[in-house]
Amino acid sequence: MTIDLHLHSTASDGTTPPDELMRLAGAAGLGAVALTDHDTTAGWAAATQALPPGLTLIRGAELSCRWHGESESIALHLLAYLFDPADEHLVAALARVRESRLGRAERMVALMRADGIDVNWADILAHADGGTVGRPHLAAALIRAGLVADTQEAFSPRWIGNGSPYRVPKDDLDVFEALRLVQAAGGVTVFAHPRARVRGRVVPKELFAQLAAAGLDGLEADHHDHSPAERAEVRRIAAQLGLFVTGSSDFHGTHKKVRIGEFTTAPEALERIVAGATGATPVTGVVG
Ligand code: AMP
Ligand code: ZN
Ligand code: FE
Ligand code: FE
Repeated sequence: MTIDLHLHSTASDGTTPPDELMRLAGAAGLGAVALTDHDTTAGWAAATQALPPGLTLIRGAELSCRWHGESESIALHLLAYLFDPADEHLVAALARVRESRLGRAERMVALMRADGIDVNWADILAHADGGTVGRPHLAAALIRAGLVADTQEAFSPRWIGNGSPYRVPKDDLDVFEALRLVQAAGGVTVFAHPRARVRGRVVPKELFAQLAAAGLDGLEADHHDHSPAERAEVRRIAAQLGLFVTGSSDFHGTHKKVRIGEFTTAPEALERIVAGATGATPVTGVVG
C-alpha cells in the first residue's frame, strides 16, 4: 500500500482543492493519504466527502511552531494527525496563528508596495479564498504581476525568501505548547522535514530528545528538502529515541515540482499513528 502523509490543499497554500486532491490521490493509486494544511482543518470535510473507494484519509494539519533556545529561536513545522478538530484550546491556537499570518502577509505586501512592487493585498486575499495565507500566495501574486517566472524564483532573497528585506516573521506556536495541545486533543505528532538545511537553520540535535520526552511521536525522514545524508541522519535519531519515521511528498500542487506519492511511509508507521490517536479516526472511501 502506498502511503503519503503530508499534502496541502487550497485550504492553505496548495493549489488543488481538497476534494480534487483526494481524487488525484486515488487516481495515482495511493492507499492512504493525510491532509495536512497549514494551521487549519478547514479542508477535512470536503476531502472526506470526496474520498474515492478504498482510499483512506488521515485527517491532520501542519502546525507553524518555533523553538525558543537560549541564544536563538528557530521556526519548525509539526505535523499533527487524528486530533479532535473541536478541541477548544487547539482551535483557538490555530486561529491565532492564522490571524498572525494575515497581518504578516499584509505587512509584507505593504513593504513591497513601498518599494514600487506591484502587488495588491485585496487581490491576494481574494485568490487565497479563505485558505490559510502563506508566502506561496505572495509568490503567486508576483508571478501574476510578471515579476518572477515561478514560485522558486519568488522564494529567492530578492523577493520573499530567506534573507529578503520584505520577509516578516509570524507568531508561531511554541513547539512544546503545540505538543501539549495536540496530545490533549488526542492527536499524534511528527516533526516535519527536521533536517531541511535548504530552508534555513535547523534545530540543535539535543532538542530531539527533549521533544521526544515531551511526547513527540515521529520524524519525517524522506522529504524532497532532505539530502540523502539528512534522511539517514533523521533515521539514526529516530532509532535512538524510539520514534517512527515517515516519508511524504509535502505536495503543494503547482507551487512545487514534487508529485503526490513521490515519497512514502511504511505501513508500520501509519499503524503507530492510528494506534496512538484518540481524537479522530481514519476514514476510508466506500466501494460502490
Ligand atoms: P510561510 O509558512 O508563509 O512562511 O511559507 C512557507 C511555505 O512556502 C511552505 O509551506 C513551503 O512549502 C513553501 N516554500 C518555502 N520555500 C519554497 C520554495 N523555495 N519553493 C516553493 N515553495 C516554498
Ligand atoms: Zn506550504
Ligand atoms: Fe513544512
Ligand atoms: Fe508542508
